[in-house]
This record gives sequence, C-alpha cells and structure tokens, in this order.
Amino acid sequence: MSLTVVGSIAFDSVRTPFGERERMLGGSAVHFALAASFFTDVHVVGPVGDDFGEEHFELLRTRGVDVADIERVAGGETFFWRGHYDYDLNVAHTEDTQLNVFGEFEPKLSDASRAADVLFLANIQPDLQREVRGQCENARLGALDSMNLWIETARESLTAAIHEVDCLILNDAEIRMLTEQPNLARAARAIMELGPRVVIAKQGEYGAAMFTPTGFFALPGFPLDDVRDPTGAGDSFAGGFLGYLDGAAERLEDGHLLLDDAILRRAMAHGTVLASFNVEAFGTERVSTLKRDEIDARLGELRGMTHFA
Ligand code: AMP
Repeated sequence: MSLTVVGSIAFDSVRTPFGERERMLGGSAVHFALAASFFTDVHVVGPVGDDFGEEHFELLRTRGVDVADIERVAGGETFFWRGHYDYDLNVAHTEDTQLNVFGEFEPKLSDASRAADVLFLANIQPDLQREVRGQCENARLGALDSMNLWIETARESLTAAIHEVDCLILNDAEIRMLTEQPNLARAARAIMELGPRVVIAKQGEYGAAMFTPTGFFALPGFPLDDVRDPTGAGDSFAGGFLGYLDGAAERLEDGHLLLDDAILRRAMAHGTVLASFNVEAFGTERVSTLKRDEIDARLGELRGMTHFA
C-alpha cells in the first residue's frame, strides 16, 4: 500500500482578514502529502527551484513523505502563488501565479512512485497530470483535482485526464463550470459519464458532497471557532480521504480497492477532519505539527455531532 501524488510544490504569499505570510511552503501536492502521511506511505512528484531549501524537504521527511522524486532544477525558481481572501473565506482571489519550473517539467518517476496503488493528480497543468497517470500503470485508484484556470485554458486536456481516473474531487462551482450544468446532481452524473465513478464536490466551509452510482453522502465542514487561512483545505481534504482509503480499504483479488459506500463515507470524515486542522493556521503550520491522537479525537467529535457511525 502506497500513494503517489503529483501537483504544485509552491511558495505561497497569502493575506486573510486574520494576518498574512510571505513565501510560505505550500502547493497542492504539499498540503495533500502532509494530510495523507498520517495514513499511508506517500511519494511526491514535482520540480522545485534553487530557492527550495533543505528545511522544506526536511518538513516533508519528518512526516515520513518520500521526496526522492522532488527534482531540484538548477537555476530554476519554485512555483509561486499569491492570493488573498476577504471575509468570505470560501473565495480565493488570485493575484499572481508563476509556474516557473513547472513550465518545462518532464516527470521521470522512480520505481517506488510508479508502483503505488493509489495516485492523486493534484491541481496542476492537466497534460502533466496525464503524463504521470501514464507512468503509474499499477495504480488501482486514480483521483484528480483541478481548478478554474485549467478549465478555462486547457479544457480538452483536462477532460482527457478526467477520463483516465476513478474519482474526481473538485470545488462545486468548478464542477458546474466544467459541465456547463448549474444543477449539481446532473453535473455529477455528467462527470460520471466521462469515466469517474466517485465525484466529490468540495463546498468550502459547508463541507463536501459525494456522488457514487449507488449513493449520495454529504458532511458539513467541522465547526471551528478560529479559521485563519483556508489555503490548502481542499488538498488536505483529498489527502485525508485518499490516504485513509489507501491505508484502510480491503484489496480485491485483482488488487483493486474494495470501495463500498461505507468506507467511502468514513474516508469523507477523515478528509473533513484533516481539512479542519489545515485551516486553523497559515499554510502548513498546523498540519506539520499535528498528532494522530488529535485526529482521532476530532473524528470522535465529528461522529458525535453528525450521528454518523
Ligand atoms: P486549495 O486546496 O484549493 O486551497 O489549494 C491551495 C494551493 O493551490 C496553494 O498552496 C497554491 O500553491 C496552489 N495553487 C494555486 N494556484 C495553482 C495553480 N494554478 N496550479 C497549481 N496549484 C495552484
């Protein structure tokens, strides 16, 4: 059992009504890997520049994340994102995106990354997601996230990438935008016609809704007194969700994960809890020091609140 993720590895400059940070460690693959690392072995794939310090590698290593496929490009600069949130923390306002080393990246995966059972194509240019999907032939469960930028600028590649995965995890507004369908239930069915059999609509502080061929399940966001920075909440949700599935799902004879509605619902709870820790502090500050017993305690609270077994 192990999980490979490709996605942005970034420096983020973020302002929220509760403070700001310059060039903190971020990126979809980083937030995802930290969350998933509580439940399974994680390999991260992606490039960084000379500006990516040993302390950033070390933070990932401390959580047991395999960084062998993080390639340092000499003379290059790490992906950079600048954004802010107003009081509606569900809406990120992008001010600047610099792909930098991702512009030229050609992934060459190690045997360990290729051999993973579960593959997460976190938010990045969809052609790059497809290249990594092609190299991970053994992956029995493939999942994908994306964003409005790629729906607007690379729709065809993104549709082809979605065709190659089993699970789509996307913001609800982006699911509507991608399918040009305002009704979320119809939009989820339209996605299933492209290939994925599990569709998760992320809904910010309102939680997440999951559509499968046989069921529907939704969980609210965990109610918190202090939310400081929502950046990476979606990726932490995906990391909790897929990390838990990789660690806990029974395997069928052909190696596929047995994904019934019961385990998918438990995975939703794990995603919800990891996302809730992520938003309590800026960037990776909270999740990088998180302990397993804190996760278990909050899972128990969530169960108590929602009467969800
Ligand atoms: P989210 O979970 O949606 O809040 O994702 C937050 C992360 O997405 C940040 O850490 C950013 O570095 C990263 N990000 C922002 N824009 C992009 C983009 N165009 N492609 C890939 N990653 C991005």
